[in-house]
Amino acid sequence: AYEITGHTVLTGLLGSPVEHSISPMMHNEAFRQLELDYAYLAFNVGTDKLETAVEGLKALGVRGFNLTMPDKNLMCSLADELSPASAIGGAVNTIVNDNGKLTGYTTDGIGFMRSVKEDGHDIIGKKMTLLGAGGAAAAILIQAALDGVAEISVFNIRDEFFKRAEDIIEKLKEKTDCNIRIFDFSDSEVLKREIAGSAILVNGTSVGMAPNTERCIITDDSVFRKDLIVFDVIYNPEETLLLKKAKAAGCPASNGLNMLLYQGAASFELWTGREMPVDIIKEKYFKR
Ligand code: NDP
Repeated sequence: AYEITGHTVLTGLLGSPVEHSISPMMHNEAFRQLELDYAYLAFNVGTDKLETAVEGLKALGVRGFNLTMPDKNLMCSLADELSPASAIGGAVNTIVNDNGKLTGYTTDGIGFMRSVKEDGHDIIGKKMTLLGAGGAAAAILIQAALDGVAEISVFNIRDEFFKRAEDIIEKLKEKTDCNIRIFDFSDSEVLKREIAGSAILVNGTSVGMAPNTERCIITDDSVFRKDLIVFDVIYNPEETLLLKKAKAAGCPASNGLNMLLYQGAASFELWTGREMPVDIIKEKYFKR
């Protein structure tokens, strides 16, 4: 039987809000399945209390924790070391505590790459069109470039995210051979041209997410060719209008559920050194 003991190793989630998160169920079930004496708890901690909370968790000797909004950026300055992806993006979603030394990682991009691969697609050396430059999109951009996607065209409107993406792209150009360009969304002809040359189209924006399920980031359906892989980071609804249109046109299409699962699996592995039993977790928590 699985129970909390005097040896139980603590992991968890910091952010605000956290109550909606699926991570506690996912990790605790995986600990149970592998009979690991670990536990995962969610803590509602905003940026005002983050530093104090992190000091406390360090003093308690927790194994590590996840970060969600609004703590991902601030956590970067509180970590002792950062993975290449976290250093480039200025965001951290996973901390590993090795005897008081905190190392920060970003596992969302890892989750995305694994999701695409497990769907049977190889995008290494190929071209990607990425819509959006927010948190999820930036993580995808960085990991794809680090992993060897050859060319990435990013689309966003010219705002703060656009500027931040330009900084990220500069850093990626120093560290990778990936040919990355960023464009303004408003130029629909450029968008069409870039998608036409891409192996994969990724929606990294929140357009189409519930409750606005009637919206679609792509307005010109002629971009969907049978050999275009279409990936939507959104997982609520499970099938966005974008995915419906892509499927109707015969494109291989995937939602963000596996990305969500695999980013958790990557954190789990960093903490425990064990592989998360993803099939069991998926069956239990990802089938609605
Ligand atoms: P952010 O707020 O960081 O980014 C949102 C992005 O969407 C920005 O690029 C924003 O661009 C763009 N956007 C919003 N509205 C529009 C619009 N009308 N037209 C064009 N672009 C628009 O959010 P996140 O990155 O955290 O989340 C984005 C989506 O990804 C959500 O649906 C979330 O649920 C999902 N997600 C999925 C994950 C997974 O594991 N599958 C992980 C994390 C998030 P602008 O600069 O114009 O604001």
